[in-house]
Amino acid sequence: MKDAKTQGREWYVANRERKLAYQRAYRARNLAARIEYDRGRWRDDREAMRKRDRERHARTKERRNALRRAARVADLDGWRAKKRAAYWSDVDASREASRRSRKRNHQKIIGRNAIRRAREKGASVVERVDRLAIFERDGGVCHICRLPADPAKFHLDHRLPLVRGGAHAAFNLFVAHPRCNIVKKDRLPRVEVGH
Ligand SMILES: [Zn+2]
Repeated sequence: MKDAKTQGREWYVANRERKLAYQRAYRARNLAARIEYDRGRWRDDREAMRKRDRERHARTKERRNALRRAARVADLDGWRAKKRAAYWSDVDASREASRRSRKRNHQKIIGRNAIRRAREKGASVVERVDRLAIFERDGGVCHICRLPADPAKFHLDHRLPLVRGGAHAAFNLFVAHPRCNIVKKDRLPRVEVGH
């Protein structure tokens, strides 16, 4: 004898299409009333509705991104053509937008480049690294000279160099002034440091 839960699940699977069709029909029948109801809620409790939308947006973010990714992969050339057309339809705005995006994603871009270089150098371990988290962990202090570093412009130095089997991972990365990092590199030729 199946338990109620299993039965319920089987019923749902067997009748899924029918149920969805019923829901669709119900919604279509009551569309006007529903719009009216929503309008009323927006009028009476704007904050609650905003909150609801924000939460739904956050909840479905992953799913939306996955759908977008799938569509892009399914038609890569079409997607590229569309992006190109959009870019050239307003070049100035596009350049400004990409400048803003580069600025916003500055740390991420640096991190991504560092991962690529670490792979090229055959690092033993390559992990995605949160640069600002390491900066915070180190108290923003350069591990070479022990003076404060600039959060907008700092290097992460591989304590055990990649070429000696060091890992590209938080535990092997320490904040360094660009200058200290380069000087260290100069003093220790043949040893890889930082990025
Ligand atoms: Zn320093």
